[in-house]
Amino acid sequence: MSDMKIFDAMAKHEYEQIVHFYDPSTGLKGITVIHNTTLGPALGGTRIWNYTCEEDALMDCMRLARGMTYKAAAAGLNLGGGKTVLIGDVNQLRSEAYFRALGRYVQSLNGRYITAEDVNTTTKDMHYVHMETDYVVGLEGKSGNPSPMTSLGAFYGIKAALKWKFGEDEIANHSFAVQGAGQTGYYLIQYLLEAGAKKIFFTEINPKHIERMANEHPEVVFVEPDKIYSQDVDVFAPCALGGILNDKTIPQIKAPIIAGTANNVLLDEDVHGNMIKQLGIVYAPDFVINAGGVINVYHELQGYSKERVMSDIKLIYDRLLEIFKIAKEQDIHTQHAAKVFAKKRIASVADLHKNYIKR
Ligand code: NAD
Repeated sequence: MSDMKIFDAMAKHEYEQIVHFYDPSTGLKGITVIHNTTLGPALGGTRIWNYTCEEDALMDCMRLARGMTYKAAAAGLNLGGGKTVLIGDVNQLRSEAYFRALGRYVQSLNGRYITAEDVNTTTKDMHYVHMETDYVVGLEGKSGNPSPMTSLGAFYGIKAALKWKFGEDEIANHSFAVQGAGQTGYYLIQYLLEAGAKKIFFTEINPKHIERMANEHPEVVFVEPDKIYSQDVDVFAPCALGGILNDKTIPQIKAPIIAGTANNVLLDEDVHGNMIKQLGIVYAPDFVINAGGVINVYHELQGYSKERVMSDIKLIYDRLLEIFKIAKEQDIHTQHAAKVFAKKRIASVADLHKNYIKR
């Protein structure tokens, strides 16, 4: 990386620590970024990606770690934000020793950072990490598949958005268009059906997922991928890819609410956050509405109880209403308001730590 000023980049968004590690025997080459630990240890998954250059890997890791700080803070968790990226081709690198080597580097941070699975890593890989450190969550036999919990959070988030827009949150009075019926989209559709949704449309590109829906819930109507934005429904729920809210798609959206599970849906947070705001559409910020998965793994650190997880996830409803209120009062887009909300919690807890208390 030619002339990137790392300390300037750290200062700009107040990063605490960046660690580079290299294990020649396994080919493990990675970066862990700890963004902020005011609320607790930094938690964030390990992603493997064949980055074209080291600068891209570092920038990605820094961006993702910062995102985790806001996500955990807005979810009311006592966690900070961090992330690990491993550089290379996952198919060539994956081995027991490779992930155990990662576990040893995670352990060397002595609990300042907790890892989990992410893009291109699996629960099996984390099992190897766990052989070397306890600072790993999302293990098999513990909190399990996070997707149903993520979808449950999105379900409450949709109800909050309905309440804000229509003054009532009865799913049975409303219609929905769901983009993606993989893990989270599939479970979200189930929750909506159970609550008596008036009408649901969905789209998919995977024929197996289209067939599964046709077999299990023939009343859910398939539409072609490019037709999902313009459905005349109350809620558009993105549950597939990032970047799908952009100059081309936003003008097509007829729904007065956008609320789903997908990450980084705004192609440009400010440009498209403002565009949605100007159209009067209620947008549920992605990192707030899709926090069910991280709330779920967090409870592994507390002694896992599904009941407690589910009651924690329900709080997404109240948080979103508060964020919509901040957005209205400050005349800012809701993604911005969500960051204001998260930063406020971090600042208030930082203040709390000023005086020493023996515990
Ligand atoms: P998934 O891969 O199981 O499902 C996504 C589905 O979208 C796939 O079935 C895919 O075929 C479909 N798809 C892709 N492009 C499409 C298109 N153009 N039109 C229609 N369908 C399309 O993934 P997932 O776990 O459900 O995650 C979905 C989103 O939610 C991602 O952005 C992910 O980062 C986010 N998310 C997931 C979790 C979780 O617990 N799984 C947690 C937080 C955020």
